[in-house]
Amino acid sequence: MELIHFLDLKALNAPYEQEFLAKTQSVLNEGWYILGEEVLTFETDFAAYCGVSHCVGVGNGLDALQLIFKAYMQLGKLQLGDVVIVPANTYIASILALINVGLKPLLVDPDLDTYNLKIGAVERAYHGQVKAILMVHLYGQISDVNEIKEFAKTHNLLLIEDAAQAHGASYKGKKAGAIGDAAGFSFYPGKNLGCLGDGGAITTHDAHLAGVLRAMRNYGSHIRYQNIYLGVNSRLDEIQAAFLNVKLPHLDAENAKRSKIAYRYLTEIENHKVLLPKIEDRKAHSYHLFVVRVADRMRFQKYLQDNMIETSIHYITPPHKQKALATFNDWDLPVTELIHQEVLSLPLNSSLTEEQQRYIIEVVNSY
Ligand SMILES: *Cc1c(COP(=O)(O)O)cnc(C)c1O
Repeated sequence: MELIHFLDLKALNAPYEQEFLAKTQSVLNEGWYILGEEVLTFETDFAAYCGVSHCVGVGNGLDALQLIFKAYMQLGKLQLGDVVIVPANTYIASILALINVGLKPLLVDPDLDTYNLKIGAVERAYHGQVKAILMVHLYGQISDVNEIKEFAKTHNLLLIEDAAQAHGASYKGKKAGAIGDAAGFSFYPGKNLGCLGDGGAITTHDAHLAGVLRAMRNYGSHIRYQNIYLGVNSRLDEIQAAFLNVKLPHLDAENAKRSKIAYRYLTEIENHKVLLPKIEDRKAHSYHLFVVRVADRMRFQKYLQDNMIETSIHYITPPHKQKALATFNDWDLPVTELIHQEVLSLPLNSSLTEEQQRYIIEVVNSY
């Protein structure tokens, strides 16, 4: 068996090569590279896909989240120093987005079954300075929405989604991006919907917020050289939007392929040393990552590597233990720490052949 890559982006994008080349030629011919027709088309189509009325294309997923919070500050709905509940086991971007705009992250241990925030923990963590909840649909699963939404409503909190791993995931029929007050997406190449560089978007039902965001991403300006907000430069490029326009119609098929592989893993991996993910609703997951837990994770990873299976770890160090987040280093987050010690991500994407899937299952079962 040849080495099975954790993620082979070239193979993943190969089916779109001809369309990418045609789009590149067409963007070149247009001669318009920033905020043009391709971005507009993508914003319209992605909003429709998610089931919201507005989508604003931005430079990347981190900017998407930061801009949401900056816009709410601009609108007076958040103030500098307000506290935002965020799951402690997220990718550090969710937490940086808060710190970078002057908000205070309140790191909360997730549920050990779903790896997502659970209502009980949110209730225990809540206090009077908390003004928002940042849900993260980690690995592509959305959890406990109704309870958390109800809690947010009761306490007048903003509910924001970090949907960077959840393109096409849903909860009781509602898509990621349409659940909270606003959501941030990333189109980093490795995501379920990925472009060929950096890209991101914000989705929301709120027309007023969307309007502020459209200006904020472009120097705080709706009309050229008239700046009404302290904005930033974070725009989705025409060329990246063009690639996304090619891939968006295939997102459901891509997710369905991932789902089929994940289902094979879930039913055919049988090894008491390997704890499988708990999927609450099989059709609702975007299967961005297939994350198992193993007590001796590093040994298991080496075993797989020796058997030509490349894996990855999401993530190896919890955000609160990072040097950059020194003020959080002594926070007590036992669930998050356990998760980071044990998680390992198996290859899961549409470029895996049946034979590779069968082989991965066989090798995992023989551990
Ligand atoms: C990828 C990711 C981000 C950041 O997206 P970028 O486009 O890389 O800035 C944020 N949150 C989560 C959960 C992610 O997986």
